Amino acid sequence: MGAGFGGLSAAALLSRDGFEVTVLEKNEGPGGRASVYQEGGFTFDMGPSWYLMPDVFEKFFSEFGKKPEDFFELKRLDPSYRIYFHDGSVVDVAADLEKNFQLFDSLEPNGGAKLKRYLESAKEKYDLSINEMLYRDYRSILDFMDGKLIAQGYKLHIFENLDSFVRKHFESDKARKIVEYSIGFLGGSPKNTPSFYHIMSHIDLTLGVWYPVGGIRKVADAVHEIARSYGAEFRFNEAVTEIVTKGGKATGVRTEKGDYPADIVVVNADYPFSELQLLSPEDRTYNRDYWDSRVFAPSAFVAYVGVNKRVKGLEHHTLFLDKDWENSFEQIFDPEKAAWPDSPSYYVNVPSRTDPYAAPPGCDALFILVALAPGLPDTPLLREGLYNKIMDHLERSVGEDIRGSVVVKRIFSVKDFKERYNAYKGTALGLTHTMRQTALWRPAHRSKRVGNLYYTGQYTHPGIGVPMTMISSTIVADVIKDNYKVK
Ligand SMILES: Cc1cc2nc3c(=O)[nH]c(=O)nc-3n(C[C@H](O)[C@H](O)[C@H](O)COP(=O)(O)OP(=O)(O)OC[C@H]3O[C@@H](n4cnc5c(N)ncnc54)[C@H](O)[C@@H]3O)c2cc1C
Repeated sequence: MGAGFGGLSAAALLSRDGFEVTVLEKNEGPGGRASVYQEGGFTFDMGPSWYLMPDVFEKFFSEFGKKPEDFFELKRLDPSYRIYFHDGSVVDVAADLEKNFQLFDSLEPNGGAKLKRYLESAKEKYDLSINEMLYRDYRSILDFMDGKLIAQGYKLHIFENLDSFVRKHFESDKARKIVEYSIGFLGGSPKNTPSFYHIMSHIDLTLGVWYPVGGIRKVADAVHEIARSYGAEFRFNEAVTEIVTKGGKATGVRTEKGDYPADIVVVNADYPFSELQLLSPEDRTYNRDYWDSRVFAPSAFVAYVGVNKRVKGLEHHTLFLDKDWENSFEQIFDPEKAAWPDSPSYYVNVPSRTDPYAAPPGCDALFILVALAPGLPDTPLLREGLYNKIMDHLERSVGEDIRGSVVVKRIFSVKDFKERYNAYKGTALGLTHTMRQTALWRPAHRSKRVGNLYYTGQYTHPGIGVPMTMISSTIVADVIKDNYKVK
């Protein structure tokens, strides 16, 4: 149920393993958070735009004897991204590590050597997590702390937060921000995320930032195509209204169009919605108090903007990092201070820099993203206020008018995440990766109340991001295969 990356990849793996799979999806096509919006010759990926962890995509496609390049052309971006700092200075983070060492040398004494050491640590943890943690099915603390993990446990840095870890490695504000910004991919802040996640710097600086030509939608289309090639059936525009159970077992799902009996139900739709709205209280593993006590990842303000000119000063990925970084995080994560932001950091994606399909000739497709606290009120006035605040800053930073050239504009925010994806409090990303919401402590892949009910996607281990949801489905498919004795 659900055709986001979690549902698509589970459908592909399970149909390959011989299960008869039907996917019911509420919206009009595959991709979930990675949907597509087209207007006036512009094509926007509505959600993910960074293709990170190429090794995970390779591993996933190899399950089917394929390579990513069988479905889409992959380009490594160089620069990987551009950063505008609050003082007006601009740096490009290059694909070439040597150039980044030089950049860090310019930011603080011995910055290059410090970055090298930091990245060595990040690589070591990344290799450990790929080999020992990310693909693991956690059922108890024993799974978390066995074998190599115990041996390495002291080095995992799970009890220190990223902010404190980074402060030990770098002195300058700019160097710190470059290695900390990527924690946004995990929907966290440097203060609420374990320092173990400095693996993100290995991911973006060493493994690199890639772009599938045609956009992330090409990746969703590829997984959809694989699933269909093994016989999985997809029914779009058909929302599940109930998971039907009897005597502790799911007997199928119900939609407005009819009943679908099933031996196994795999849920990809948002976990809290599915438990609280589709199951009766006695069948829920987690009740409302559980969800209310979790730390949710941000919602977002996203503007899809088509302009009839090329905007100077922007790269494929450009970040605008705020001076008052701490206040920005507090406005997202501190319930007492949650508010539409005063002077936020934001991100602009311009796929038309790399991809002629994204915009008509001579035009640019801009995707502007600001993280917001989940559950905030969302009105046209608030949206327009933030749009103008960001545009004022963006126009000042790049030194030209943009608003006068806008031909397409759509804003997608808290309300839309709730309505389109059934997202709890309109979260864009599900649950953040605090220590208490990592690995074993994320919501379980299997229901504890309903024998044949499974969950995949960003709420579950290993967590947020397209590659992570594909890993989540790999774990779930293995568990199901194992439970049903499929060789
Ligand atoms: C704005 C934004 C930017 C992002 N940027 C990146 C990035 O650059 N790189 C990256 O790797 N990740 C990024 N992410 C995160 C990534 O997109 C998600 O982690 C991932 O796509 C989540 O996949 P999922 O399958 O868990 O959930 P979803 O994609 O939400 O899929 C769940 C599906 O269930 C469906 N559904 C809900 N209710 C029902 C129902 N009742 N019946 C049937 N179907 C239902 C939904 O419509 C949806 O299609 C971004 C996310 C957002 C929102």
